[in-house]
Amino acid sequence: MSDGHQNQIDIARLQREIDELSLISENPPPVVTRVLFSEADLRAREFVKKLCREIGLVVREDAVGNIFARWNGSDDDLAPVATGSHIDAIPNAGKFDGVVGVLGAIEAIRSLQRSGFSPKRSVELIIFTAEEPTRFGIGCLGSRLLSGSLSLDRAGTLRDGEVKTLEDWRKTVGYENQKLESVRLKPDCYCAFVELHIEQGPLLEKENIPIGIVEKIAAPSSIRIELTGVGGHAGAVLMPERRDALLAGAEIALAVERAALESGSPDTVGTTGVLRVEPGAVNSIPCRAWLEIDLRDTRVATRDAALKRIETAVAEICRRRKITFALDRLNVDAPALCDAKLVQAISDSCDDLGLACKRMISRAYHDSLFMAQVCPTSMIFIPCRDGVSHRPDEFSSPEQIEKGVAVLAGVLARLSVDSI
Ligand SMILES: [Zn+2]
Repeated sequence: MSDGHQNQIDIARLQREIDELSLISENPPPVVTRVLFSEADLRAREFVKKLCREIGLVVREDAVGNIFARWNGSDDDLAPVATGSHIDAIPNAGKFDGVVGVLGAIEAIRSLQRSGFSPKRSVELIIFTAEEPTRFGIGCLGSRLLSGSLSLDRAGTLRDGEVKTLEDWRKTVGYENQKLESVRLKPDCYCAFVELHIEQGPLLEKENIPIGIVEKIAAPSSIRIELTGVGGHAGAVLMPERRDALLAGAEIALAVERAALESGSPDTVGTTGVLRVEPGAVNSIPCRAWLEIDLRDTRVATRDAALKRIETAVAEICRRRKITFALDRLNVDAPALCDAKLVQAISDSCDDLGLACKRMISRAYHDSLFMAQVCPTSMIFIPCRDGVSHRPDEFSSPEQIEKGVAVLAGVLARLSVDSI
């Protein structure tokens, strides 16, 4: 990769910037934690905006903190081609998730600038607010609002653990001058959106293929359940009298597993990732429990059928155990089909560079899931070690990143001259 091609990627510089950004964290290295609107998140935003300004990109922010950095093209009438990802990170994460697609896009633009390329269409980098559900329990907050997938009413009800609302946070970080309704993008505002991202799965590494091209993004959904039983002394209340909230929760978790296993689709995955109990003492019967369940599939029909099955099981289990419950569907999203012509453009860019590629499904969801509702969208995946992500030992090598950035640069160059 370091010889021959016109768009030379300065991988040493990009790696340095990835390392530097990883130090902006709420935890000591190698742990990266950047919760939405935390001091670390705000400093990371400044770091990225500075890099964008240094290369002449025009930077603006919307009312929820999505950052747009534009390399102006020669023809203002053409809709820009967009790329981007996120820099927020869940607690105890690594340095590549999201960051490769943001800092990598900046290096892709720099490489095009160095080669003397000038875009006809503008090239716009988007850094999305809160891809991770760190503060408000909902992922892709920025891109949901950009695409209109999250209603303003619903956004108004979002609260974090400190019971501050989204509106409170907008004031705290200085976005209150713009109205939240101004975030939504207009149709045809972009000709395409391409996101570079680590795979967060093992397939590319296993098959030794440097580039994945995403054709489909799985349909995610998540529900939160609050269970209320009756507490009591662990010694005094005999078993037939009990209304134990945790036991209902345990049965529900098993019902989630069963619904995913028996859905008829190998792509259905169900996870009960949160189970909290109150009062949480060894000699006290749990009187309350909270569960958060994540259910995904590539097909809406099987996902929705499994979701229905879980909800039916919750009602049955709680009736039998005399537990009252409140079930809240946090999100039930459709899958995204990536644009066939854009997938082809990425594949052509791989061919230009002599890189093997593989078409694949993204089982994790990304801002691309929502950008697909705005404009033709696809993703470029690069391998990551053992498929590990959302951990401090998450790793992609400089060579792997360099190839992904080179493909992205090629796609941006192609789309900023032609249409797809
Ligand atoms: Zn990500």
